[in-house]
Amino acid sequence: MALEQGAINLSQGFPDFPVSEKLIDLIHQKMKEGHNQYAPMPGAPALRKTIADVLQTTYQRPTDFETEVTITAGGTEAIFASIAALISAGDEVILFDPSYDSYDPSIRLNGGVPVHLNLNPPDFSIDWSEVKKKITSRTKMIMVNTPHNPTGSVLSDNDLKTLEKLAVEHNLIVLSDEVYERIIFENKSHESVLKYPGLRDRSIAVFSFGKTFHATGWKVGYSIAPENITREIRKAHQFITFSVNTPVQLALAEYLADPENYLHLGKFYQQKRDFFLNEIKGSSLEPLPCFGSYFQLVSYEVKKSDTEMSEWMTKEMKVAPIPVSAFYNDKTDHKLLRFCFAKGEETLLKAGKILRNI
Ligand code: PMP
Repeated sequence: MALEQGAINLSQGFPDFPVSEKLIDLIHQKMKEGHNQYAPMPGAPALRKTIADVLQTTYQRPTDFETEVTITAGGTEAIFASIAALISAGDEVILFDPSYDSYDPSIRLNGGVPVHLNLNPPDFSIDWSEVKKKITSRTKMIMVNTPHNPTGSVLSDNDLKTLEKLAVEHNLIVLSDEVYERIIFENKSHESVLKYPGLRDRSIAVFSFGKTFHATGWKVGYSIAPENITREIRKAHQFITFSVNTPVQLALAEYLADPENYLHLGKFYQQKRDFFLNEIKGSSLEPLPCFGSYFQLVSYEVKKSDTEMSEWMTKEMKVAPIPVSAFYNDKTDHKLLRFCFAKGEETLLKAGKILRNI
């Protein structure tokens, strides 16, 4: 609708600023050097090695690149392959709404039963006592996402410790979507499952270069899981994509080796968030707290559903948000809209000018 209406598209989550020239040159170089054939099924060894090094420095998680790292076609494939590998007919998977839209269908396509729990607004925290009540003998997996799309909330150390206790007690696999690991604000630290000893042995952590290097269109991500789980994930990955394109993997291996290329990301996006918030000051749209990801939620007062409000804004105001009810299985409508602020200043200035009139 945004395209049809010529509206400024702050709906879908993708950056509208360029990818690093250096990274593009590296890909070009790898292609020219002749790295244009199939990569090994689990991923290019050079990239898996660099990832293992980065995990050691970032999360103090010793990682065996041969047996624990799998390069996938984006975070989405890592999620799908993990579910395809580990979920059988009738297995229950606990997930939290609002949620990224691939989770529920990935579970259903593999015969699993999604058990949706709603996060608690306005901070979108997890009610762990509710989680306990939903665990049955059929519960196989619990999915978490931090920093969180669409709400911008982050899980705390306490959340991870509670998750660790529950997962160990009930023998659950944890699928942790951490694609926004580096987009985190206000000096908060990203609580990865990889930092918690009880979770490391039973978790899959999912990451995406699309988010970290502003290149969502390249669709390169990876999963980190202990050897016994990785073995299963690769059985699915082998027949979903087999392998991911070679030159991009080799270029990423070199680019990722320099921490300068990713350590600034939180600050970079915090500035964008603040720029956007400043631009919409004076509007009747009320921002909610946002501690990570590149999404800002706002509430509004008028008597329209969030879908009607989004349609009206796209058609009449020519700025497109996404209604948050779209991320709920039961279409809960808290009258919230999601804006993506991963945009250049010019786009945010134009959008802000319009949004201030609402
Ligand atoms: N998880 C979440 C929470 C996301 O927002 C996205 C991208 N929108 C993904 C996973 C998928 O990442 P990728 O584009 O690498 O498949």
